[in-house]
Amino acid sequence: MKDQLAIHGGKPVTTEIFPKPWLGPAAIGEEEVAAVAAAVRSQKLFRFLDPEHSKCAELERLFAAMTGRQYALALGGGTAALICGLAGLGIGEGDEVIVPGFTYIASASAVLICGAVPVIAEINASLTLDPEDVERKITSRTRAIMPVHMRGIPCDMTALMEVAKRHNLLVIEDCAQACGGSYQGKRLGSFGDAGCFSLQQHKVITAGEGGVLVTNRPEVYERAAIRHDSAMRFWNPENASADPFPGENFRMNEMEGALGCVQFGRMEGILARTRALRRRIYEGIAGVEGIAISPSPDPEGDLGITVVLQLPDYDRARQFGLALKAEGIPAGGTYDNVIADRHVYCYWEYVMNKGSMDRHGRPWTSPLHDQTRQYHPDMCPKTLEILGRTIVISLAQTFEDRHAEWVIQGIRKVAGNLI
Ligand SMILES: *Cc1c(COP(=O)(O)O)cnc(C)c1O
Repeated sequence: MKDQLAIHGGKPVTTEIFPKPWLGPAAIGEEEVAAVAAAVRSQKLFRFLDPEHSKCAELERLFAAMTGRQYALALGGGTAALICGLAGLGIGEGDEVIVPGFTYIASASAVLICGAVPVIAEINASLTLDPEDVERKITSRTRAIMPVHMRGIPCDMTALMEVAKRHNLLVIEDCAQACGGSYQGKRLGSFGDAGCFSLQQHKVITAGEGGVLVTNRPEVYERAAIRHDSAMRFWNPENASADPFPGENFRMNEMEGALGCVQFGRMEGILARTRALRRRIYEGIAGVEGIAISPSPDPEGDLGITVVLQLPDYDRARQFGLALKAEGIPAGGTYDNVIADRHVYCYWEYVMNKGSMDRHGRPWTSPLHDQTRQYHPDMCPKTLEILGRTIVISLAQTFEDRHAEWVIQGIRKVAGNLI
């Protein structure tokens, strides 16, 4: 006998509200408070005032060590990290950067801010950039590929690096949602010419706002540093072989640096828990008919912060998601035609409409760009098709074992009734 679904008036699996799926922010404790207070009390909030004791510099060393890169640059945000990374790579007007159709709008925004244009490529069932479509989207103007490790899922870096190598393209990794992840034993952010992290509220660890760029190439680091401070040479005269150009003040401050350092120390603990939770859930739903677990390019290196389920089509996924929510499980679709989700390219309005802050419509109208390039909401049908039949559940280290059990029970119950 089957339990009646809550959506049909049955008793839900649980009525308890799940913890918010916050990672770093939910781990904030007295150490963070003390570190920020100490930074404030020092009265030295500007990172170049006392370089030897700078918390921003300490955070840079932590990220450089984590990724095994020689250089790290602390920044005001993940978007700033992408902008400085692109500027570091010398990408600008006339260049095209291939981005996935499923990523936060900031990935595309950073490309435009640098004067280049984003070329949108399909994702595959892993929810990350499809290497085959990347290859199809390459033109004579393509300079770089931007793999985005969405929701903690590592991209297929083997295939993407091969494509990049074959076509002589640069690679800038957007690791905003995947701090601490790896692919085949190597940290995310250490594959490309530059790796970019975010320390915003919704990411794995937080500094309030913040970002970090990592690279192994000295000229990329220097150019990124120039972009991140309008007077970089003034603060760091001995470390400046690149010719200066106008910069923007994207610096991180010492309060953020102090908070980021404490949070960095919590990262592995957070991820050990989310990975264990997700493993438990995937084991608990193994063999359930009608739903597939999304294929991660590297389940071990994956952050385990997202349960990703795929159904045969949009209608069944929508029904499944609604039924699961009625059971008390915080499930969401990734694309549902109704809510404008800025993580899906068709809702990037200023890309779709070629929006510009300047009255000449730059960078779109630059004679260096391909004027025939068009954008429209159904240009990546495979991406919309995959997202439309995907259900996600965001996990956090604050979930207890009972939350994982309820997720399993909910999925089994709904699958048993609906499929
Ligand atoms: C959050 C995010 C960014 C931007 O980071 P900010 O710190 O908010 O500027 C860029 N890319 C992706 C994939 C993100 O999730």
